Amino acid sequence: MSMNMGGRARDALKTRRRFMERLRGLGVNDPKVLKAFATVPRHLFMSEALRDRAYKETPIPIGEGQTISAPGVVANMTMALELTGTERVLEIGTGSGYQAAILGLLASHVVSIERIPKLATRARSALDQFGITNVTLFLGDGTLGRPDLAPYDRIVVTAGGPEVPRVLLDQLAPDGMLVGPFGPRRAQKLTRYWRGKKAGSFRREVIGECDFVDLIGQNGWRG
Ligand code: SAM
Repeated sequence: MSMNMGGRARDALKTRRRFMERLRGLGVNDPKVLKAFATVPRHLFMSEALRDRAYKETPIPIGEGQTISAPGVVANMTMALELTGTERVLEIGTGSGYQAAILGLLASHVVSIERIPKLATRARSALDQFGITNVTLFLGDGTLGRPDLAPYDRIVVTAGGPEVPRVLLDQLAPDGMLVGPFGPRRAQKLTRYWRGKKAGSFRREVIGECDFVDLIGQNGWRG
């Protein structure tokens, strides 16, 4: 029995080492981000049947036609947010809750919105199991943001919309930043927007190509 446990612990360590090496190979070089990925047990955020794939570089179905993005994608988006630990972050598309957990370790507080009730419930329970306390989840249309809790230092949109919702940009604090996939279905540009100090001024930069599930809502795709 104890040999068995020892074997399992060794396997888990090997899996984690390989996971970290793969992330480094994908350009994830921020030590704080790597530490967060080493800390959050990704397998907790998916169904037991799919857990053997949890640390592979692949998106994984989470039910309701949705996916948890591949770890490299989550890591590169997280790195793009340039978090220092003091930020209030808004995430659109809670999904499994995995990225919210990562953000919770790297920021001061995370507000995350999911439109599908079953996913929001499961995400809450995985986050509670992980024991994170600075992530607040809401059910609703994230394309509207949460103006009542704005401004946010960072906003991350984790589903692909036709264009960046202007209402989200308006919920950024001065010098705040939004990262998300925008453009045609199946071929979005991962884009970063900075809010300037002058009212209504934004800087835009494309940081990659991607293919995310649809951002569905009033300021996204219509179902
Ligand atoms: N960040 C998630 C994670 O770590 O598992 C992955 C998100 S998954 C790629 C995209 C999620 O966005 C789905 O769960 C989907 O239901 C959600 N979504 C799509 N449109 C939305 C909207 N308008 N408001 C809130 N969530 C939305």
